[in-house]
Amino acid sequence: MLSSPIAYLKGVGPQRAELLQKELGIFTFNDLLQHFPFRHVDKTKFTPIGEATPADEYLQFAGVLEPFQVIGQNRGRRLVSQIRDKTGTVEVVWFSAINQIQKMLQPGKAYIVYGKLSWFMSKPQLVHPEIEAWSPEKIEGKAYLEPIYPSTEKLKSKNLGGRQLGKLTQLLLPHVKPQDIPENFPQKMIEELKLMPRFDAYQQIHFPQTQKHYEAALRRLKFEEIFLAQMRMNLLRSQRHRFSKGVVFDAVGNYFNTFYNQYLPFELTGAQKRVLKEIRNDTARGKQMNRLLQGDVGSGKTIVALLCMLLAADNGYQSVLMAPTEILARQHFQGIASLLKDMDIGVALLTGSVKAKERKTILPGVAEGRIQLLIGTHAVIEDSVQFQNLGLVIVDEQHRFGVAQRARLWEKNHTPPHVLVMTATPIPRTLAMTAYGDLDYSVIDELPPGRQPIQTVHRLDHDRSNVMDFLKAEIALGRQVYVIFPLIEESDKLDYENLMRGYDEIKTYFPEPQYWISMVHGKQPAIQKEENMRRFVEHDTQIMVSTTVIEVGVNVPNASVMVIESAEKFGLSQLHQLRGRVGRGAEKSYCILLTGKKLGNVARERMKIMTSTNNGFVIAEKDLELRGPGDIEGTRQSGVVDFKLANIVNDRAMVDAAKKVTEEILTDDPDLSKPENAPLKEFLQSQKGKTIWSKIS
Ligand code: ADP
Ligand code: MG
Repeated sequence: MLSSPIAYLKGVGPQRAELLQKELGIFTFNDLLQHFPFRHVDKTKFTPIGEATPADEYLQFAGVLEPFQVIGQNRGRRLVSQIRDKTGTVEVVWFSAINQIQKMLQPGKAYIVYGKLSWFMSKPQLVHPEIEAWSPEKIEGKAYLEPIYPSTEKLKSKNLGGRQLGKLTQLLLPHVKPQDIPENFPQKMIEELKLMPRFDAYQQIHFPQTQKHYEAALRRLKFEEIFLAQMRMNLLRSQRHRFSKGVVFDAVGNYFNTFYNQYLPFELTGAQKRVLKEIRNDTARGKQMNRLLQGDVGSGKTIVALLCMLLAADNGYQSVLMAPTEILARQHFQGIASLLKDMDIGVALLTGSVKAKERKTILPGVAEGRIQLLIGTHAVIEDSVQFQNLGLVIVDEQHRFGVAQRARLWEKNHTPPHVLVMTATPIPRTLAMTAYGDLDYSVIDELPPGRQPIQTVHRLDHDRSNVMDFLKAEIALGRQVYVIFPLIEESDKLDYENLMRGYDEIKTYFPEPQYWISMVHGKQPAIQKEENMRRFVEHDTQIMVSTTVIEVGVNVPNASVMVIESAEKFGLSQLHQLRGRVGRGAEKSYCILLTGKKLGNVARERMKIMTSTNNGFVIAEKDLELRGPGDIEGTRQSGVVDFKLANIVNDRAMVDAAKKVTEEILTDDPDLSKPENAPLKEFLQSQKGKTIWSKIS
């Protein structure tokens, strides 16, 4: 019944069904049921106008409409009137549909208005309020909490606004029977945590009897989201630990030792050593490793990756290192190949742009095991790439590498390879554990010695010529600089033009032949991008003008200044990532955030945070506070923290409680095979795609 197409609901029909699908992703009855109201209004409650305060948000008033006035010109043209009751007046304003509104409403009559209150010159105002004729029966009857749903402009124009969607839900609910929404929690848990039963919760979240009922329903459904996510993650992890056999790397042999003793260019930091030990513990035990390695930009993850790959080779296994971009893959390849140049070990680069001729030698080399270390982009795990015995997969800078993709890797070898996912996006620990609960977790929380902290400043656009003078001075000292422009969407024409204008402007400050500039952006052919990149890496050019394609991983230690144009357009973690491109050498480095004078509060706060700390984990916590978990780089796609109702920052207590119950249940019944856990197991199994059940049971 709940899987019926939404078009079959009375009052919907094919046209509105299509809109609901397009705008809100509502395809079925169930989708509508899962489209939760974000607010309820007590439609029997009217605020005396004189009692409204700036602290109020949405209010409902009843009063007499005063005569209309049309004022202003062009875009400022608006229709203005007042609603008056015994205690005061509130201004009502319309910017569009001015003629229709005038025809529809009659000054002198009584109306009910409802909307979000704003204050203009210390007078209350409702812009585009909901308005309907007052009639006595409207205010009789019992308290009625009317649900208001998220909607879109398009839907509003088709009479499917935030309140009208409630009419559909109201039609749907009487048809929904308890067996359509069976309980999925163990009874004991419901009792102990005093949770509302599932069926009731779905009724009460839409049309609550009282505010208390609503809160109980919300609590139950939030808890359900968090708990089920934890359950899935924990099941995946614990089942993997118990059942999945991994390849065994128990020997530390020639490759590792020779490299470590003869070619390692520096002493490992304590954190690097600890992480390496954690990885070795895992891989030596014969359990399949699935580990997230977090380390701030520049903390030295690459060398850890390389040492792991050598360990794999010592045990007769191949490994791959996967980077998100060609540039980065190539850089990894060049770096690693040069470190290993005096060792007898097969290293190859495989990306989308590697020519067919070259592929012809690489693919058999991989299939026959002559190539032990394969470095590349996603191309390395395409079906055409067959390994002799793949033992380790390292995924660099792709926290988006989700559960499903990892599962694909498991098919690359008869025993699934170990997986190490490396990321410089610092994720607060609580968030990491929720989003990546199926992974084990290591962190490099120490930078290599001798690094000077990057000095970050915030400058306004009109300071630009001073900034350029500073760049000249640094370049005169033999350093290189980055200038980054925002390119939010690689297809965005406006951003692209900005970049070009910025490039031209930089060129006027830095004319050839005294200066040479590289430019890299997403619209360039790969070859040109590579060439520009290469010239910068080799110090042929002193300035790199780029979009955020440069963001991850690129390593040019001689670059000492990072200028970020329109810095207000970037999120905190992106700013931090970009800043991490400098401060990689021995020289003091600088990050200059350029913005216009007018900044919103959040942007101002971001600038303040960036100029006050270099610590990625502090920044990640702040980012979480400023933006909420759904927006944190990388977690959005994880499909775990983009909850509909819960918010893992505000509902942290619930996250902890859910974690505790999950562990209790799984300790007592790891396979959920006890009868009291049957409903839970059944429910998890029915959630296709969310749990890779076939892999774990
Ligand atoms: P990230 O963690 O951002 O990927 P990299 O692996 O690119 O960082 O390392 C950044 C720089 O630090 C590289 O130039 C690398 O050679 C250097 N490095 C890594 N570990 C150490 C160390 N223990 N001592 C000194 N330099 C190191
Ligand atoms: Mg890196």
